[in-house]
Amino acid sequence: MLQQVNGHNPGSDGQAREYLREDLQEFLGGEVLLYKLDDLTRVNPVTLETVLRCLQARYMADTFYTNAGCTLVALNPFKPVPQLYSPELMREYHAAPQPQKLKPHVFTVGEQTYRNVKSLIEPVNQSIVVSGESGAGKTWTSRCLMKFYAVVATSPASWESHKIAERIEQRILNSNPVMEAFGNACTLRNNNSSRFGKFIQLQLNRAQQMTGAAVQTYLLEKTRVACQASSERNFHIFYQICKGASEDERLQWHLPEGAAFSWLPNPERSLEEDCFEVTREAMLHLGIDTPTQNNIFKVLAGLLHLGNIQFAASEDEAQPCQPMDDAKYSVRTAASLLGLPEDVLLEMVQIRTIRAGRQQQVFRKPCARAECDTRRDCLAKLIYARLFDWLVSVINSSICADTDSWTTFIGLLDVYGFESFPDNSLEQLCINYANEKLQQHFVAHYLRAQQEEYAVEGLEWSFINYQDNQPCLDLIEGSPISICSLINEECRLNRPSSAAQLQTRIETALAGSPCLGHNKLSREPSFIVVHYAGPVRYHTAGLVEKNKDPIPPELTRLLQQSQDPLLMGLFPTNPKEKTQEEPPGQSRAPVLTVVSKFKASLEQLLQVLHSTTPHYIRCIKPNSQGQAQTFLQEEVLSQLEACGLVETIHISAAGFPIRPSGPWLILLLFLICGVSFGSLCLQRGTGHLRWSEPSEWCPHSEEATLEPLIQDILHTLPVLTQAAA
Ligand code: ATP
Ligand code: MG
Repeated sequence: MLQQVNGHNPGSDGQAREYLREDLQEFLGGEVLLYKLDDLTRVNPVTLETVLRCLQARYMADTFYTNAGCTLVALNPFKPVPQLYSPELMREYHAAPQPQKLKPHVFTVGEQTYRNVKSLIEPVNQSIVVSGESGAGKTWTSRCLMKFYAVVATSPASWESHKIAERIEQRILNSNPVMEAFGNACTLRNNNSSRFGKFIQLQLNRAQQMTGAAVQTYLLEKTRVACQASSERNFHIFYQICKGASEDERLQWHLPEGAAFSWLPNPERSLEEDCFEVTREAMLHLGIDTPTQNNIFKVLAGLLHLGNIQFAASEDEAQPCQPMDDAKYSVRTAASLLGLPEDVLLEMVQIRTIRAGRQQQVFRKPCARAECDTRRDCLAKLIYARLFDWLVSVINSSICADTDSWTTFIGLLDVYGFESFPDNSLEQLCINYANEKLQQHFVAHYLRAQQEEYAVEGLEWSFINYQDNQPCLDLIEGSPISICSLINEECRLNRPSSAAQLQTRIETALAGSPCLGHNKLSREPSFIVVHYAGPVRYHTAGLVEKNKDPIPPELTRLLQQSQDPLLMGLFPTNPKEKTQEEPPGQSRAPVLTVVSKFKASLEQLLQVLHSTTPHYIRCIKPNSQGQAQTFLQEEVLSQLEACGLVETIHISAAGFPIRPSGPWLILLLFLICGVSFGSLCLQRGTGHLRWSEPSEWCPHSEEATLEPLIQDILHTLPVLTQAAA
């Protein structure tokens, strides 16, 4: 039966599924030793059950990191563990002759990655891919790695250069609170959930010192500015301003204490709102001076007032909808904070301009109430998204090193994990598409390479069937026809088409794909994609519109009229780049849809990752309530399945091929001959060559005889090599 820990129920169907057998202890050599197994490749047999049991034992013993071959599994402690992240411990891992011999830690990955850059004659860029579901600890882990490099990759040189080094590291670290204030929000699954993906490139010079960094962000969830799911919140920064503004600022930004804003739901849910001073301080360090900061906050206050503009439905279709009586103050205040004429702001939200005919004559059509709401929201999203991009560019100009002052980089990737909700739309499609790509990258770089290597070396090995997700990627992005191409085609044709029609088009055109699930039960139009991490149903309603992400050109023109210095910078009158803000039909250029832009940025990211040596950290969330000391097997199990951890361990556990060189090779040959060890077979079931403490080893009947001998030999190898050196 599934175990319950701390009285938590693993879930309604949990009881029915028997993951753990009573006789498991036999295989694992007793419960007492389980928590000592710091590498899951030592679990025998490697199954979801044993891996789960081992992780649980370690978690309950306050051991949060476990190796799984090439991957580090990081369990979220959901409690402060300061001793685990102290600078002293960072230095200890950094100074260790063999950090992999210390307890598994995020610092081991950090240090090995760092040494990889250093040790090679021809330096190779490195990357650390941090994955896991929302709340699993990805951002926490990336932050921890950044702090680690800020401590170990500094210059011990002169006082002056040390000061410069400190400044750059501090600036790099300061990018975190700023990006989190503007890009994170409290969701049902995580009080500090990143609503964007992030790749940060830590730049190192020849002496391995961090000289700068560059940040690339992906797919900010800008809809959150104007629309928050029930019990969720807007981006932290809005709450920070409302809570942290001084009396003077409150007056300037029209934010009286206790004011109610419809875009600020659930004001009492998170602690992140207390961080206004931290955000301001960090912005200052990044070169955003106080007047500019105040300008930003003024504009954000303007957005809050914009959100309070509610329209009353117009009885006469030819007449524009008017703001409700109590919203007139909001129109006035929003307009003044955004530097816009009040009447122009209102008119642009109320009235749509249509160009038609050969002469492209302009017609003005009053919008229905729902459309007024959409246009108001669109205005807010447009401003917030530009502001966020601008902040990222300011951060980059503040932390990026000159091209000639760095030679290699370590990339840290913190992207949203696989998502499956009752209602999935374009956002989930993009996120899961990114996860498919990353999984493929992982498979390509690790599993496949390893298996091929075994084959080349003639190592006997029963090939496991790792899940090749190419068919799923073909379904999503392949050519000539895929889900992406079909949705893009709908945007390009700009024809009215219902959600049901889109479902039929997808199901008909892609019927041959093994990854398109059977869509029988749903009443709402949808399609199912069978992802490597499980099937997900995507609703087709609103998909095309979201993909177009239409920005009425008159809204952009409105913002170009703003007298506010920040908005003038964000919306220049002669924008260099062409966007889809042009009215449809006027340009022959391909329509830049959300999907096509996302696909392009994803391809760029994958190209960068392919040029690096990757390392992987899988973050796991032991329970969805965020409670310490609580390990819910059912919840962890689905995460283990979603990241294919058992397959990874299987490959690693199959036996480490020895890749000796130079003195190692001679010594090894000598030893092998000396102890008549020629017949040693490096394959599963006969003798694993691996480093381990005998007490940690799981007894296995077939291995029991050879194992101690092999281990003794291996333990003497480093001593002999050192002596020889
Ligand atoms: P999302 O995808 O929603 O952004 P995430 O994977 O980035 O989620 P984090 O924000 O990193 O999740 O972690 C969620 C919370 O878990 C943190 O705010 C922190 O409270 C806690 N947490 C994560 N890792 C640790 C850790 N190593 N030690 C202590 N607390 C942690
Ligand atoms: Mg995060």
